[in-house]
Amino acid sequence: MRTQMKKIRKPNSTKRKNDRKEAQKRLKEQTSLMMKHPKECCICKLSFERSEETVKTWTVTVREDRVHLTCPKCWSILTEALGAIEGSS
Ligand SMILES: [Zn+2]
Repeated sequence: MRTQMKKIRKPNSTKRKNDRKEAQKRLKEQTSLMMKHPKECCICKLSFERSEETVKTWTVTVREDRVHLTCPKCWSILTEALGAIEGSS
């Protein structure tokens, strides 16, 4: 399973404080969220069945405090949409 964090930009541009404790806390929270990630595609609700194939092809994204699991089909649609947005700007 791949973790894609660079592609999706956070919409709000609040200033980041250099608070290491806060960052560590967030990292810890994200790690715990990763442990209990969803069991279905966040878009089409296709159930995720762990196998060598699905682990390679499904994508986990962490955005804000939520973990999203995306099946390959929906992920390709998403990345195409994002690419179109980035390309046009
Ligand atoms: Zn899907």
